Amino acid sequence: MMDEERSNEKCESVTLSLMSEAVSAPTECEKRVCVFGTGDMGRSLGLRLLQAGYSVMFGSRRPQSCNFLPNGAQVLSHAEAAQAAHLIFIAVQREHYDFLVPLAYHLKGKVLVDLSNNLKKNQYPEANAEYLQSLVPEAEVVKGFNTLSAWALQNGPSDANRQVYICGDRAEAKQVVLAVATKLGFSALDRGSLSASRELEDFPLQLFPLWRLPMRIAVGLTAFFFFYLLIREILYAYITQGKDISFRIMVSLANRVCPIVSLIMLALCYLPGVLASFLQLYRGTKYRRFPDWLDRWMLCRKQLGLLALGFACLHVLYTLIIPIRYYVRFWATERTVTQIRQNGTNEFITSRAWHSDSYLSFGILGFGLYVLLGITSLPSVSNALSWREFSFVTETMILLRPSSVATRQFCPTRTNLEQ
Ligand code: NAP
Repeated sequence: MMDEERSNEKCESVTLSLMSEAVSAPTECEKRVCVFGTGDMGRSLGLRLLQAGYSVMFGSRRPQSCNFLPNGAQVLSHAEAAQAAHLIFIAVQREHYDFLVPLAYHLKGKVLVDLSNNLKKNQYPEANAEYLQSLVPEAEVVKGFNTLSAWALQNGPSDANRQVYICGDRAEAKQVVLAVATKLGFSALDRGSLSASRELEDFPLQLFPLWRLPMRIAVGLTAFFFFYLLIREILYAYITQGKDISFRIMVSLANRVCPIVSLIMLALCYLPGVLASFLQLYRGTKYRRFPDWLDRWMLCRKQLGLLALGFACLHVLYTLIIPIRYYVRFWATERTVTQIRQNGTNEFITSRAWHSDSYLSFGILGFGLYVLLGITSLPSVSNALSWREFSFVTETMILLRPSSVATRQFCPTRTNLEQ
């Protein structure tokens, strides 16, 4: 027992002395980590730590009867595990944290990583990590890894969930956690002191926060243009000419709305960048914060662009089904029959064929660039591009886009098909 305590003391001093170089290769003592809790999160984290070369000790209420733990991990009682490692991950729900109070002596000076999340915002008066710190004031609590799921941990970091957020009051303790996160293949972002832990605990409860504004804009624009076109084209024709063309609501009207919304959303995606540049020129510096509204707008540019692409895709699908619509087939047959009856012929107008083909070709090109732009905005793709490559794609897109719109405006054949 004495030997074990001496070895642990040595381990702590070694760990503390090397904290400043924590990202370098871990020593034997640093390699020993403890995980309290053998549930989904504890097991997944233990597995990843083992895969990264750490020696893992689980602390459990029932060390003898724990099943499905990763091979190579030791299972001990909480007290034994706490003594054996300097870094302890707490993979237990906050409601059960009082089991740590009797262990306070063993946890003195240790780094405790609080992984817990809540079921809803403001569930407790203080953040879980702050509560943990109040239970074991002599331990060094760091909040972290809570934004990852057990599944993501098991599968290893991918582009979408490479980020780990950490916060804590002691810089050395955060360095230790940062080193482990880096060794596991994650990139850790320091979010400041432990008072930021409530914010980190709220992260997993957020539902598409950056999509809300773009979605509202998309729904608002769609509703506005739909009703505008409904009144202008369907109701107006019914009232003034008594013509019932309400069937056009399903395809023609939708196909009119989609490109309009798509182009407006695309403009809204690029406009804040232009406004920000003007603001910086006006202020003569780029080191001042943008107003909140512009900041919010800038943050959701990618979502605006992806929604714009979504509407463009809908426009493509609606356009592709035009030839199989009953109305179009009826109209084409009617025209042929009328011509036969009148014994007439249609002259082939080469300029019209040129207009039609150019229109379609530019449309396809524009859509291809649109898709390319959408794909390059995905993190997995944009991470693989250099800044020059990324700028090239975005700038080419802006330069070529107006030409396809111009083609759309002068092409006469489109109106026939779209009716
Ligand atoms: P879980 O599967 O229910 O496991 C919780 C573990 O806590 C149990 O296996 C148990 O381990 C231990 N425990 C239960 N009651 C206890 C008590 N009264 N005293 C001491 N230990 C007790 O939960 P989990 O999904 O692993 O989540 C654990 C923590 O990680 C939670 O705070 C959760 O918010 C957080 N988290 C989970 C995920 C996820 O994807 N699952 C993601 C992010 C964060 P023993 O039987 O070995 O003692």
